[in-house]
Amino acid sequence: MEVYKSECELSKELDLEFKKKSRRWIGDFQVSAAYLCSNQICWGYTILIYNNGLFTELFQLEKEERIAYLDDLVKVSKAIYDAFKPHKMNYELLGNVVPHLHWHIIPRQKTDPIELHWPIWGKDYTEVKLSDDKYQKIVEKIRIHLQ
Ligand SMILES: [Zn+2]
Repeated sequence: MEVYKSECELSKELDLEFKKKSRRWIGDFQVSAAYLCSNQICWGYTILIYNNGLFTELFQLEKEERIAYLDDLVKVSKAIYDAFKPHKMNYELLGNVVPHLHWHIIPRQKTDPIELHWPIWGKDYTEVKLSDDKYQKIVEKIRIHLQ
């Protein structure tokens, strides 16, 4: 398949040099790459980016690819769950703003600043940004549980 080049933020994050420099890169999986979200409103909030930005919908993927992507989602989610013991994992595939296929994996705690009735979207709150060192600590905590 022709390599798809895009200027979208998520495609940039698929670049190996970008990954090496980032303190939020968790790892590469079968068909995707995981990054800790820069917004840590929920500790461990992760984005799982599909390796090819040509695709925007799950139904566009061949079955084998789709299953691999689901397996990646399960693997990363389980590690986040084990690391943070949330009340519930949330999974969202939106892409209204950035269409490049990506999962939002959000561990929700009872103590969240956003009530559990709601997804993290559509609420007025200040995004929680951390230092690179703090991002790296969370990444390492998730990585331990990937082994
Ligand atoms: Zn993209």
